[in-house]
Amino acid sequence: MNRYRRQIAFAEIGEAGQALLEQATVAICGLGALGSCVAERLCRVGIGKLILIDRDWVELDNLARQTLYTEEDARNATPKSIAITEHLQRINSDIIVEPHVCDLDVDNIHAMFSRASIIIDGTDNFETRYLINDYACQANVPWVHAGIVGASGQSMTIVPGVTACFRCLIPEPPPAEQMQTCDSAGVIGPAVGIISNWQALEAMKLIVAGPDAIDGALRQFDLWSGNIRKLTLKRNRKNENQAGCVTCEQRIFDFLDGRYQTQARAMCGRNAVHLHVTRSEPLRLASIAERLSKECDVKVLPFMLRFDLDGITWSVFHDGRAVLTGTEDVELARKLYARRIGS
Ligand SMILES: [Zn+2]
Repeated sequence: MNRYRRQIAFAEIGEAGQALLEQATVAICGLGALGSCVAERLCRVGIGKLILIDRDWVELDNLARQTLYTEEDARNATPKSIAITEHLQRINSDIIVEPHVCDLDVDNIHAMFSRASIIIDGTDNFETRYLINDYACQANVPWVHAGIVGASGQSMTIVPGVTACFRCLIPEPPPAEQMQTCDSAGVIGPAVGIISNWQALEAMKLIVAGPDAIDGALRQFDLWSGNIRKLTLKRNRKNENQAGCVTCEQRIFDFLDGRYQTQARAMCGRNAVHLHVTRSEPLRLASIAERLSKECDVKVLPFMLRFDLDGITWSVFHDGRAVLTGTEDVELARKLYARRIGS
C-alpha cells in the first residue's frame, strides 16, 4: 500500500505533486515549539530531505508543546536536532533527516541552506529572522516565517521578488523591551499546533504548486478569542519619495554581512562573557527592569541594570551591551541574552 495514497487522492497534489514532495529539501531553523511540529508534519507527508538546525537540548518544560520529544529525551538532555531525527526516522524511514547541533549564523548559513528549496522559521528571535531574510532574498529561496507568544502568533510566506519580505514588514528590529517573550507571556500547545501546521501547509503548497499558490499576506492568529486576520502586504518598492526596502529592493544584506551580528566573547579569567548587540535605539532599562522584576530583584542604576538570574550575575547597559558573570560559555550567554533581554 502506498503510504501517501490519501494525499495523492487530493486533486491539488496527485502523483505529480507527491513526486515533487519526495524530491524536495526543506531546512528548518529552530526546533522548539513551532519548528519541531513543522518537522513532524513534513516528515509524515514525505518531504525527501529535512535539514534540522538547533543548538538546544530537550528540557522537561518543552514537553507541554513540543509534541515529538519524550521524558527520556529530557532526562538525557539530548540535543533537539538529534532527538527529533531519531523520532522522525522511526515515523518515516524513506526520508533523509540531517541534524545540526548549532546556532544558525553568518558563518554557517550558506552551508546549512544551500541545498534547501524552502526554509522554515522556527526561531525565537529577530536577529536570526533578519539573517534568514537576507539569505533568502539574496539566494532567491522562499521561506515561511512564523512566531508565537501566548495564544497569539503570526505567519507570512516570503517569496523573494514576488511578495513583501520580512524587512518590508518590519524595517528595523523592534526595541527589545517592547517584545513579549514566551518566558514572560507563556505559550500554549494547541496554538503552536495551529500555526506550525499552517507553516507546513504553506511549504507543501510552494513545493507542489509553486509561488502562484502563495498570497504573501500576513496572517495574525489570535487563537484564544478565535480571530484570524489576513493583512495584504505590498513590497516596499522604490519610488520618487523613498529608496524602498533595504533588503529586497536595495539589496543591502546587513545581517548576512555580519554588521548587525551580536558580538560576544569570553572575558579571560573572569568567568564572564561580554556581549555587544547592535541596536538602532538604546534599551529602555526601566521597562526591562519591570518585566524581569517578576522573577528576580533588579537593581536599576544610572545607565545599567544589575540582577541575578539563571545562575548568572547580569550587568546590562543602555546601549545594548551586557556582561554575564558566572559563565564562559559564549553560546549559552547569547541564548540567555536573547531570552531575557531580546535580540
Ligand atoms: Zn523587502
